[in-house]
Amino acid sequence: MVATILVGMLCAHLLCFAVMFLLISKRLHGKTMGMDFFAVGNLLLGLAYVLQLLEGGPAWSVMSVVNHTFTLASPVVFWLGAMRFFGHAVPLWRPLLAVVVAYTSLQVLVQWSLGPVARYAMLSGMSALLFLVMASTVVYGVRTFAKDLYAEMVFFAALISGISVLNAIKFLKLLQGGLVALQMDANFQLVFYIYMSFLATVLPPSIVWLVLRRLTDELRHQAARDPMTQLLNRRGLTDALKQHFNARHAGAAHLLLIDVDHFKHINDTYGHQAGDAVLCHVAQVLQATVRRGDLAGRIGGEEFAAICLDADAVGVVHLAERLRGAMERQAIPVDGSDQPLRCTITVGVSPAFVGAQALDGAMREADAALYRGKAAGRNRVEVALNPHDQALLAALNASAAQQTDAIG
Ligand code: GH3
Ligand code: MG
Ligand code: MG
Repeated sequence: MVATILVGMLCAHLLCFAVMFLLISKRLHGKTMGMDFFAVGNLLLGLAYVLQLLEGGPAWSVMSVVNHTFTLASPVVFWLGAMRFFGHAVPLWRPLLAVVVAYTSLQVLVQWSLGPVARYAMLSGMSALLFLVMASTVVYGVRTFAKDLYAEMVFFAALISGISVLNAIKFLKLLQGGLVALQMDANFQLVFYIYMSFLATVLPPSIVWLVLRRLTDELRHQAARDPMTQLLNRRGLTDALKQHFNARHAGAAHLLLIDVDHFKHINDTYGHQAGDAVLCHVAQVLQATVRRGDLAGRIGGEEFAAICLDADAVGVVHLAERLRGAMERQAIPVDGSDQPLRCTITVGVSPAFVGAQALDGAMREADAALYRGKAAGRNRVEVALNPHDQALLAALNASAAQQTDAIG
């Protein structure tokens, strides 16, 4: 009686979550993250337990064969769903059909050649192996493809290992004691059903949590990025800067404001699409030029920003010069034009600043420097450094000029 109630609850859980997974997958519009697969997996397992309830005890019947096939197919489908979640475009129906045909044939063969105990033992043995491989893959995932989901993966590995162990015990019990081990209200079967009910209660919300986490991470990522160049937008830059200054020993930062010269002319001459290609090119050069750990962003139409973290003024000015030089040198191929396009940038460099709240001030100073660079003829780096850094830079430039003269 207790076992029947437990299995009944199990069916209700599995079938309810099958519907829920399906509804969630519909809301995700094409990027289902495996939720449609999880819906099918839950449905198969739910139906398998419905058949078990209808069947009562172990028997050789169509219902029992379908039950075993569904029971074994459902973890395979969960496996495929997990692959989908981690971005692998695996199909569902063909592998599922292959498992259904292969396992149904195998059951008939084993029943006729080795008898009913072997058929039931085969289900337990194969389930134990399948869940063992799944748990091992999850443990492997903690170190590789799912590093960001450490706690979740450890939790899944523990739950899946439990069901693998229970199936292995069931397998041994069947070999030792025959089908008596499968009596619904036998102690072991009760433990098995309690554990399965626990899994059916805990696993589906955990899967929903994983999807929710992925979605919110993606939303946060999108909100911080410019969709065309994938550089940080103003909000992303501010957030990253806050994170930098929250660290205990964070050094000062410098802001570089970068504006494409005569960009309107490029748009007017080559078209808006070519203009977009130029913007993507500038983004690539910017990303490739800044040091690892620096921040690169697009803050307006043809205006970009780089924030150099923990760098001295001399290094920052050199970086701005490298950026300006790279843009000047590199030709940009344009669709529909034989002549590659060339464009230049003007860069305004702010003094060193500390704290994310100082960004607005740095922005004003870099903007003023940029304006001076435009007025002085464009394709220039103009600095708004503090007096000490100005003096240091002037001294370094003078010494570099002396060395060049000496070599000459
Ligand atoms: P300056 O050398 O003084 O910076 O002149 P400019 O022509 O670069 O500057 P201006 O501000 O006059 O023109 C900027 C142009 O950028 C105007 C606007 O149509 C264009 N623009 C803004 N956003 C985009 C975009 O996303 N794609 C393209 N193709 N053009 C854009
Ligand atoms: Mg501009
Ligand atoms: Mg411009």
